[in-house]
Amino acid sequence: MEHEEGVVEAYAKVQAVIAEACAKAGRSVDEIEVIGVTKTHGPDVVREAWDAGLRLFGENKVQEAAAKIPESVSQAEWHLIGHLQRNKVRPALELFSVIHSVDSLRLAEQIERVAEETGHRPQILLEINVAGESSKDGMRPEAAPEVIEYILGCRNLTWTGLMTMAPFCPDPEQTRPVFAKLRNLRDTWEKEYGVGLPRLSMGMSNDYRVAVEEGATWLRLGTVLFGHRPKWRPVAEESF
Ligand SMILES: *Cc1c(COP(=O)(O)O)cnc(C)c1O
Repeated sequence: MEHEEGVVEAYAKVQAVIAEACAKAGRSVDEIEVIGVTKTHGPDVVREAWDAGLRLFGENKVQEAAAKIPESVSQAEWHLIGHLQRNKVRPALELFSVIHSVDSLRLAEQIERVAEETGHRPQILLEINVAGESSKDGMRPEAAPEVIEYILGCRNLTWTGLMTMAPFCPDPEQTRPVFAKLRNLRDTWEKEYGVGLPRLSMGMSNDYRVAVEEGATWLRLGTVLFGHRPKWRPVAEESF
């Protein structure tokens, strides 16, 4: 590991921050789960995190995950948190039980098609670009109803909530409106479509305290648990 502190200590600090934020917001810590984001780290880091008590793990690239997951802890639950290309849906469904990054109708259609064929029953989140940054993945809120109506008619997809990536702000307070907006969209769509959407995937190392205060249930944490990521990628970028 390239940082001094072990995962056990780092995770204990994270849990203390979560407990404080929950106390402030009047929430129960049981509503929140940490996803250990292990991108660029090897299976040894996954094992260390498992031993420290983490059970959920996130990767942002299918290719890298395909090399890492079989070498890691077999009981771990893997979540895809990065952009998914339609030509990688098939391997993605083999690797991940939850896809956080459904960001278009065409992607939802492809996941449903492959799931129907292979018998996978993925849990999905819609990724919403709340802040309206053109560089970020995720659909604008106005584009969501078309995708939602499609998903609600799918036999193989279980839609459980929303995900967002807040823009990086040196002062995490500035991300609060982004998280509040995602929660409001969730509340609105639960009523409008008569569905339960318990999952809000929001909050990263820099801003997870604020995300917890605003209702996050899945925190995607990399750096704060595992230290800074190595610059190089262990797996070449090539398509399946
Ligand atoms: C890398 C990544 C994270 C974790 O980022 P940290 O700042 O290291 O905690 C969370 N979500 C997504 C989508 C990522 O790609």
